[in-house]
Amino acid sequence: MNEISRLVQEAGVAGEGGAGFPAHVKYSSTARLFLVNGAECEPLLGTDQYIMAHFAGRLVSAALSIKEALGAEKVIFAVKDHYREQIAALKNAMAGKDGVALCLMESVYPAGDEQVLLYEAAGIRIPPGGIPPDSDAVVSNAGTLLAVADALEGRPLTHKYLTVSGAVVDPLVLRAPIGTSFSACIERAGGVKTSRPFIISGGPLMGRPIDDGSLDHETVTKTTSGIIVLEEGHYLDLRRRTAPLHMKNRAHASCIQCSLCSDLCPRRLLGSPLRPHLVMRAFAASRGMDELLETRAAKNALLCCECGICEMYACPMELQPCRINILIKEEFRMRGLRPEFPSGEDPSPARPYRRIPSERMAARAGISNYYGLAPQGFEDMSNVRRVSIPLKMHAGVPALPCVKTGEKVEAGSLIACIPQGKLGARIHASISGRVRLFDDRIVIEAESLNE
Ligand code: SF4
Ligand code: SF4
Repeated sequence: MNEISRLVQEAGVAGEGGAGFPAHVKYSSTARLFLVNGAECEPLLGTDQYIMAHFAGRLVSAALSIKEALGAEKVIFAVKDHYREQIAALKNAMAGKDGVALCLMESVYPAGDEQVLLYEAAGIRIPPGGIPPDSDAVVSNAGTLLAVADALEGRPLTHKYLTVSGAVVDPLVLRAPIGTSFSACIERAGGVKTSRPFIISGGPLMGRPIDDGSLDHETVTKTTSGIIVLEEGHYLDLRRRTAPLHMKNRAHASCIQCSLCSDLCPRRLLGSPLRPHLVMRAFAASRGMDELLETRAAKNALLCCECGICEMYACPMELQPCRINILIKEEFRMRGLRPEFPSGEDPSPARPYRRIPSERMAARAGISNYYGLAPQGFEDMSNVRRVSIPLKMHAGVPALPCVKTGEKVEAGSLIACIPQGKLGARIHASISGRVRLFDDRIVIEAESLNE
């Protein structure tokens, strides 16, 4: 393990843009290209944009350190061409430095998808079922890079930048201790503007809806990029409530096999064997999950990035191929099955004409009224009195607590380690206080001043 990876592992950095892949593992390999994902393609999020505008110098120098560790030829920062403030800050930080460049991307959705980004920024394609290192590239987003910059200066990952937006009084970017409750974050944004809120963790299109009644248990993790508040009964809320049997009946009755979902699928347009219209056909025709999972179409559903274009934008019959793909992926995961994939094709020559402008995607998803409502403020949540930190905020196995109930900890001290020989990330206390251990989390409560 190189020195950068060692520091990153000690600091507990996990990829902040997706599944939380432990960053030290990524940076232990070699690669020809290090790509920084600054596209932030989900509408309403402004987290990475805030980070790039305010910490460009630290990001560029951390990226160059990672480039050295990987033995890469260059670093590319991929950002959208309308991020004027961020572009100016990055250009300024890159001035006079070799081996680092900017790639300006159009505002299309999903520009931040790793596969789309690598192709747009460097013409690199990832084989079906593969990851960027399979194509000699490593990708990290701006938030992860800021955590790496801290790690290189000896500071562990204890706080997370995130956007709170949608139907809140003052949309803003927060820097919150990991483990802070969602409710506290929403309060900092002035509270909700609707009597029946529907809340999403992450971006509105690919984020995770919070089940009714579980908001009190939701806390900021290493991968929380945003908290989006919408109204109950919103299109995005109704979409997730359709029962699988109802989706199946509708697929059977209404899918006209027009293949528009496949024609506009960004993965398909890059040459992936994924074909959502064939998934729909197999889903409608199969007599059960066992039969469905045997089909080639369903196996290829694992290549879906869950962008939702097929159902929110393409399908004229308002069917839900994306949700069906998610169901199939979940079923494969629960059964521990990992099918092989056929090799891909060349990108479609129609691809340049089938990219979806972000603004139109936002309109189809019913969030135009919030689109362009850039988070105006920033707040550093420094006086949080209680945090609840999950032991699994990263890919791999849960971290192993190395503190006991009743113990006092200081902010920044190590509270959970990576089990020997396993994939995982360390966890540090995000506030000072007294610890309580639970099966899946560690709670820290700040002590009152007179204790
Ligand atoms: S776009 Fe809709 S109707 Fe057309 S094939 Fe896809 S799921 Fe079926
Ligand atoms: S959600 Fe639909 S459009 Fe997006 S990658 Fe999956 S199948 Fe393709």
